[in-house]
Amino acid sequence: METYRTEIRNHFSLPRRIKRLGELAYNLWWTWYPDAERLFRFIDQETWEQVYHNPVKFLRQVERARLNAVTYDLYYLDLYDHIFKEFDEYMKGENTWSSIDETASKFVKLPIAYLSTEFGLHETLPIYAGGLGVLSGDHIKEASDLGLPLVAIGFLYTRGYFTQHITEDGWQEARNFHLDFNDLPVLPVFGQDSEQLNISVDLPGREVLAQLWKIQVGRNPLFLLDTDVEENAPADRELTSKLYISDLELRISQEIILGIGGVRALRMLGYNPQVWHMNEGHSAFQTLERAREMVASGIVFEEALDKIKKTTIFTTHTPVPAGSDEFPLWLIDKYFSNYWTELGLDRDAFIDLARRKQPWGELYSMPLLAFRTAERRNGVSELHGHVARKIWHFIWSDLKEDDVPITYITNGIHSGTWIARRLFHLYNGYLGMDWIEHADDPEVWAKIEDIPDSEIWEIRRHLKRKLIAYMRDRARKQWLNTTVHPVQVIAAGALLDPYTLTIGFARRFATYKRADLILRDLDRLLGILNQPNMPLQIIFAGKAHPADEPGKLLIQEVYRAVKKAENGGRLVFLEDYDMNLARYLVQGVDVWLNTPRRPNEASGTSGMKAALNGALNFSVLDGWWREGFNGRNGWAIGDDTDYDDPQRQDEMDSQSLYDTLENEIIPLYYNLRSSDNLPGEWISRMKESIRTLAPQFSMRRMVKEYTLDLYVPAMKHEKNRELD
Ligand SMILES: *Cc1c(COP(=O)(O)O)cnc(C)c1O
Repeated sequence: METYRTEIRNHFSLPRRIKRLGELAYNLWWTWYPDAERLFRFIDQETWEQVYHNPVKFLRQVERARLNAVTYDLYYLDLYDHIFKEFDEYMKGENTWSSIDETASKFVKLPIAYLSTEFGLHETLPIYAGGLGVLSGDHIKEASDLGLPLVAIGFLYTRGYFTQHITEDGWQEARNFHLDFNDLPVLPVFGQDSEQLNISVDLPGREVLAQLWKIQVGRNPLFLLDTDVEENAPADRELTSKLYISDLELRISQEIILGIGGVRALRMLGYNPQVWHMNEGHSAFQTLERAREMVASGIVFEEALDKIKKTTIFTTHTPVPAGSDEFPLWLIDKYFSNYWTELGLDRDAFIDLARRKQPWGELYSMPLLAFRTAERRNGVSELHGHVARKIWHFIWSDLKEDDVPITYITNGIHSGTWIARRLFHLYNGYLGMDWIEHADDPEVWAKIEDIPDSEIWEIRRHLKRKLIAYMRDRARKQWLNTTVHPVQVIAAGALLDPYTLTIGFARRFATYKRADLILRDLDRLLGILNQPNMPLQIIFAGKAHPADEPGKLLIQEVYRAVKKAENGGRLVFLEDYDMNLARYLVQGVDVWLNTPRRPNEASGTSGMKAALNGALNFSVLDGWWREGFNGRNGWAIGDDTDYDDPQRQDEMDSQSLYDTLENEIIPLYYNLRSSDNLPGEWISRMKESIRTLAPQFSMRRMVKEYTLDLYVPAMKHEKNRELD
């Protein structure tokens, strides 16, 4: 079936005994099999950190003597043989869930196409901005684990997402860089000759090419488009350089490349997907391109659309209408006036597919297009399902709101990616060696009660020490290598203490996430932080989108509080939040705080990562936490009431936050049992949290639900298959 090839160009000169490291470097499987990373780290820890966990760069830079040395190290060679045995087993793909589950094995034959603007796979691939990207990344990793044939499409952004620097005054500076793809675990895709494959799309007055790259994600490929090719005009070479550009012309061009170009890429590569899954509406033009193919083969548009709908799935993530991706009609005229004739449509019929009447005029709405061209649609939590049915009710105005055909599948997280290595081994010991393959099974997690308190607490303490050591190290490097003001070194965590109760708050700095809620009554907070014998420390991190001025002001407000001497160095802001920092934080803190303004957090996932690692959630009952919280496995901020006045909502929520901190969270943490000096009640709450949340919010549960509730029903339309 495949009409393309990739080959690992031989960059590395490795000793024979360990030469397969070169192969592992190009399959992201190593990022989520908990011991595999050590195969690189063990050779030379310092170089491994210097190249920021990029195995391709690492194998090129590491000294030959180091490589030679491990070939005489029996411990290393054992690990090497063990990991490659696991890797080979994995890649064989035998007895996967998809091949043994009765329903899945019957229907899943051809690949599922999965389209997304961002994929958060690993810190070395900065092609994601936040939660949406991490969700896509986790989804395709789990699809691989489940043996689900999935082919993903996205962008290889030449400038990636920016790195964040905070000035002394707390202002976020975005630093851009240029990625060298030869240094990344990414391979060019070739056709039969030795030319890199590319596809083309028509943009006004010109044809634009995008070349193809591939990232191997376990058993499945992710293909990435990139317009930085010589044949394109200089401005077009920049089209896919950055994520979420605000300029509408650039954005529509990107979305044409992803949607229309994405379909062309898959066809060129020989794929004929059974089902097409759009993660958010940015890729919705793909349904038009599939319709165009059918119209070209003689089917009328309406009939083509009918067929396409049946095999298309759309997941919406936006809980606020203002967050929608919409284009003014003049842009649609400019970019699509040739295209609609190819569909056999006139202007009105084409625009009607996605026409959105707003008080300020008519717009072409990408989510609307996606809703209209996908028969299966879902939100990402139960509450978000309600909200989505309400927002989009107007599309089905003859139905009651409850009957609007948008369901929900609550998000999850990929256990292998987010679990701390030591906990992975602890769970292996008590839950069974294959717990990760049954991470969605509540019975497996019931055995968490068998773990002795002292063992799990010892690992939790280790993880917090590790987080704090890492932060201090970063603060020291900043102090050594750059010209920062001393207060910035303290703000970066130099005074943190590994034995103090630690709260983490890290995510994108969008205003609805209310990072400043906990700062609302600063005097009260300072009192809490500095309580004798029961101190508290709080770590903030997160980037604001470079065009989001209110988001940047919020960072500044937090940073100003962080710099105050009165907090004793116990408020901290970490620069440059990414998947690496996220791992340290969700694994190392005691409490994970989330304070969105309801119902704006469609789901949220970072709290799930924290829960898997034994941190306790302390959050507003929005998104996933509204489903996860049972009264005993963490804490709620506020209750299920919504106030019309946002000021009043903030006031009520912040009061609730301080009260719970003072009266429940802090005393519980410092209340040690006299028999063993451990916080027994805290640990039992932690076990309750892991037991109840780890299975329910696993990516394994989520991808199985997508498969059985959305993919398989779409596959049952086999008879109506397009184009074959
Ligand atoms: C998990 C994750 C997110 C999502 O965070 P939420 O709190 O769910 O919004 C964002 N960024 C990174 C780097 C993550 O790992």
